[in-house]
Amino acid sequence: MRVLSAGTLKSLFVPGGIWLLGAVLLVYSGWLTVALPVLSFLYYCAIAAGMLLAWRFHSSRIFLSLSVVFLAQQAAAVSTGQPPFISATLTALAVLLPVNFVLIAMMHERGFTVESVAPVALFLFVESLTVTVFCGAAVRVHSLSIPIVLPRYALAVPATAAIFLSVRFLLNRKPLDSALLWSLASFFLALRSAAAIRTSTAYWLATACILATAVIENSYLLAYHDELTSLPSRRAFNDALLRLKAPYSIAVVDIDHFKRFNDTYGHDTGDQVLRMVATNLGSVTGGGKAYRCGGEEFNILFPGKTIAEVLPHLEKLRVTVAKSEFRMRGNDRRQLPRGPDRRNQRNRARARKGDAIRRLAEGKPSSVLSVTISIGVATAAAERSSPETVLESADKALYRAKANGRNRVETAASPQRRVRTRAAGIA
Ligand code: GH3
Ligand code: MG
Ligand code: MG
Repeated sequence: MRVLSAGTLKSLFVPGGIWLLGAVLLVYSGWLTVALPVLSFLYYCAIAAGMLLAWRFHSSRIFLSLSVVFLAQQAAAVSTGQPPFISATLTALAVLLPVNFVLIAMMHERGFTVESVAPVALFLFVESLTVTVFCGAAVRVHSLSIPIVLPRYALAVPATAAIFLSVRFLLNRKPLDSALLWSLASFFLALRSAAAIRTSTAYWLATACILATAVIENSYLLAYHDELTSLPSRRAFNDALLRLKAPYSIAVVDIDHFKRFNDTYGHDTGDQVLRMVATNLGSVTGGGKAYRCGGEEFNILFPGKTIAEVLPHLEKLRVTVAKSEFRMRGNDRRQLPRGPDRRNQRNRARARKGDAIRRLAEGKPSSVLSVTISIGVATAAAERSSPETVLESADKALYRAKANGRNRVETAASPQRRVRTRAAGIA
């Protein structure tokens, strides 16, 4: 199941879970021998580095999360620094920080503009002022237990926020959600150990590190993953090529008449089609891994596989895409295919392609369309064949698939072995 795949678990635990695990191990193993001033210095460095990275990479949400952590840590330090301790501050923090994290998770990333950051900064300022005024007048206690016992409602809020962030992560798989989740856990441990100042500072340090490294993780994802389809990008494909050892097969996939899809139904519908095709490619069988290498061009790598081994899987993929019905959403339904009266003479050839797409929708509700793909595949059987040569052969095979009517798989092998499959009524 996709939700529990190894990739999902990896992106959930790396790097946030590792930071927190490291901090817990340090605390419980007794290896936390660093002096408090050093720990505090590291903590401030992590906050500053994280804010700098967030600013440089235009991640206002990480910047705000670090600001919230910084304000919370200052409030906790003031309240626990001098006896009598003020437990009300810690209770207020246990409620407010998770609420702030949930609000930040739901915010749209709009970069570092005054309009986007100023209202939130004002909100945080008012919040800090309220905590200071109300908690200053709150009931004082003369000692704090270790760990600190918080009221039930103050436990329910972080627990609810953690569930919310986990569900968000499983749905979107964004590094920010996993970073907020792990830093929330780390913050909670910092709060519970507020009376043991060194332990608490170690957890605050872990909280800051989790958020700071989320910026790097996010940049890595942007570089190696395609945002629209969530498939690995050309850069990841090039990296994978460097590690390949013969035998292996490369399939090049291209959507048929995609330009006409865009022209007829609009770019947004085109994007939805791309996502649908990418979802099918992402679950290709036979040990293949799909990459989005260009606009509507995808490559699939099959390490250790020959053409004969991958052909049934590519054929299955082609049929799956051709059979899957694409439903247009809301507004797109208004963009019905254009009639012939809107075309001029010079566009007649293009119009014929439009008719092909329109035929795909025949016999189905107007909001349901079909999409087909063409595939060219080549194998590197010997060490001497370079990935570039194999790719070139796969490209040529794809070109043949297009020339021979589309919606088919063509191999770079001898013409007798080519697979020619034509779906009824298409191309
Ligand atoms: P063919 O069957 O010969 O492949 O015809 P085609 O119309 O699909 O031709 P081609 O593969 O050259 O079309 C590429 C088109 O893909 C051009 C561009 O309009 C569209 N495209 C590229 N990237 C994107 C994208 O991110 N979103 C959308 N909606 N369209 C894209
Ligand atoms: Mg193309
Ligand atoms: Mg195409």
